[in-house]
Amino acid sequence: MTKQRFFIYIIIKVMVTVNKKRKISIIGSTGSIGRQALEVIEKLQDKFEIIALAGGHNKNLLENQAEKFKPKYTCLGEEGLEKICSDKENDIILVACSGKIGLRPTLTAIKNGINIALANKETLVMAGDIVMREAKKHGVKIIPVDSEHCAIHQCIKDINQVDKLIITASGGPFLHKSIEDMKNATVEQALAHPRWNMGKKITVDSATLMNKGLEIIEAHHLFGFDYDNIDVVVHPQSIVHSAIEYVDGSIIAQLGLPSMHIPIQYAITYPERFEGIKSKSFSFADIARLDFEKPDYEKFPTVKLAYEMGKTGGTATVCMNAANEEAVFAFLDGKIKLYNIYEITKKMCDEHKVLENPSIDEIFAVDENIRKKTKEYILKMI
Ligand code: MG
Repeated sequence: MTKQRFFIYIIIKVMVTVNKKRKISIIGSTGSIGRQALEVIEKLQDKFEIIALAGGHNKNLLENQAEKFKPKYTCLGEEGLEKICSDKENDIILVACSGKIGLRPTLTAIKNGINIALANKETLVMAGDIVMREAKKHGVKIIPVDSEHCAIHQCIKDINQVDKLIITASGGPFLHKSIEDMKNATVEQALAHPRWNMGKKITVDSATLMNKGLEIIEAHHLFGFDYDNIDVVVHPQSIVHSAIEYVDGSIIAQLGLPSMHIPIQYAITYPERFEGIKSKSFSFADIARLDFEKPDYEKFPTVKLAYEMGKTGGTATVCMNAANEEAVFAFLDGKIKLYNIYEITKKMCDEHKVLENPSIDEIFAVDENIRKKTKEYILKMI
């Protein structure tokens, strides 16, 4: 190659690299996170090419999304998820569906070397050991979308120098209500989250603080920290999205107005940052004060239970997650009271014989078994 040709080759190579669009698929494109992800992608059209969109039940919305974003293909429901996650054309897959249906396709994507932007909680709560082991084996990045884990991810420079993770919790609608008020809460009261607008299941989990419990377990797997080095602090304004403490005692936190667009955008564009859907900037002076307090474990025993089940490991967190979810559904159906969610979940956890190092099939079997048991127990209760 002559010198001149060589330079032309380099220039073309650089241009191709600069113009390369990130190829992305979204599992759960019709849900709350999926819709917001598409708003981000619309703003960053020149940065992304959509390979596939997978929706849950909303056929009309999926069709509208397909018309607008022109993916290579779409799918509705669980069928087709394996195909999407086996498509090595993907640079990244945003797993934004809720529930356990996210688990197997995520593992398939990891085995195919595709990076994951993870918004699905069950993936790590049910099978964190397996998922992180496979990710390491295949050199795949798991980039968290949840605002707390995203904040921690943004704060960490050298994980070996970090001593502690500090996860913030808004405290939900019952933070300053009495235990009695909470015990007698209606569905409407539980769904009235003061800071975040989310799906029903996660909103109830935020009211009982189980959501924070699940996030502790996710943080343990994502960042490889012992449970004793993961703290929770209640912060009602939801401005500090979480923080880390370095070995020298310095604390680094990530701040911003509550908006899911920012963590979604961060996760799918990582390690780059773009203006995209820019967060409304806030001024320290306007905010004036930020409050922090210790969580009240008597009122919110779910957090303690999550620590215990997390430390137990194996299928303990599978059991807790399944029992809690079934109890939340029963609460949303008006069958039980808010406080019963914890009592039922605790009972199922107490009775569960934990399997250590379960396989994926064993995890799904425990999940199914606990759901059945929980439903039967609730039927007897009412
Ligand atoms: Mg969160």
